[in-house]
Amino acid sequence: MPSTEFQLIDHYFSHLGINRADVLLGIGDDCALLQVPEGQSLAVSIDTLVEGVHFLADVDPESLGHKALAVNLSDLAAMGADPAWVTLALTLPKVDEVWLAAFCRGFSALANRYHVQLVGGDTTRGPLALSVQAHGFVEPAVALRRDTAKPGDLIYVSGTLGDAGLALLVNSGAYDAGDGRAALQLRLDRPEPRVSLAQRLRDLATGAIDISDGLLADLGHICERSGVGAVVNLPDIPLSDPVRAYVETERDWSIPLKAGDDYELCLIVPAQYRGEVESRAADLDVGLTLIGQIEEGEAICCLDQQGAPVKIGSGGYDHFQSS
Ligand code: ADP
Ligand code: MG
Repeated sequence: MPSTEFQLIDHYFSHLGINRADVLLGIGDDCALLQVPEGQSLAVSIDTLVEGVHFLADVDPESLGHKALAVNLSDLAAMGADPAWVTLALTLPKVDEVWLAAFCRGFSALANRYHVQLVGGDTTRGPLALSVQAHGFVEPAVALRRDTAKPGDLIYVSGTLGDAGLALLVNSGAYDAGDGRAALQLRLDRPEPRVSLAQRLRDLATGAIDISDGLLADLGHICERSGVGAVVNLPDIPLSDPVRAYVETERDWSIPLKAGDDYELCLIVPAQYRGEVESRAADLDVGLTLIGQIEEGEAICCLDQQGAPVKIGSGGYDHFQSS
């Protein structure tokens, strides 16, 4: 059993993920030494998860290990980047070996699947919190930026929207999803970063964002950065059975449109690539659905079955919004 900080790091973190040839020096020195491929940009992103804000104290540590990495790989996917390296800053209230082993299991299973190596980090004592910084590679010309959407471009989303948000509602006791509960919980605990989808479409799509704060808020970021508006056709939004049942019985679109945590991708595609994008996406194991298009202006307009505007309001989850 590790007794010092160095033994702890060595035991749990020094062999997480795969061994990559572009890691010239990994964990154990003052810095890692890393080789970015010629002609590619280094895409870098960091996300922090804090107990009591992003997860509860009794969270399953294996799911937390998965999610801490997944949300970062999702940012790389949203940039069209190939995941490569991660660093992990971990603040722990105490050394709980069972907890740490489970956390590392969740983290490393996902790291292995995406050929990612943990190359460094920091371990300190304090209230439970963790930051993961992800590094990936992308050719600058195909990076999926937020500021490139143009009127006429098509808006696609991957997977289904609202599952994680409905899981939170179910957990609060405000809604009973019956048999659908376990599947919703899995979507909240184990989001799947849409890396392969982004890699497959990055030379056709011009922009993307991952949906962490709700479709309207995240599509809103693309619109704002690009100086455009958008039309979203509500009947086209892909919904799982439990979310569809919720929307129909409660007559409430806020879960698929405004709840976060799904980590699906919203992709912007020039209209001429529609056929090619849809045929490429058909080979992948995640759905891709056309939900609307970019327009002149600055608002996002949601339309119902009859093409009439539906008032939903904008905004997803904002940590600093005054209530
Ligand atoms: P320093 O005192 O130079 O900051 P540390 O004692 O924090 O060094 O870390 C020693 C080595 O272990 C470094 O290579 C660092 O990147 C790595 N490391 C520390 N904590 C973690 C962690 N949670 N995950 C991965 N690597 C870690
Ligand atoms: Mg340190």
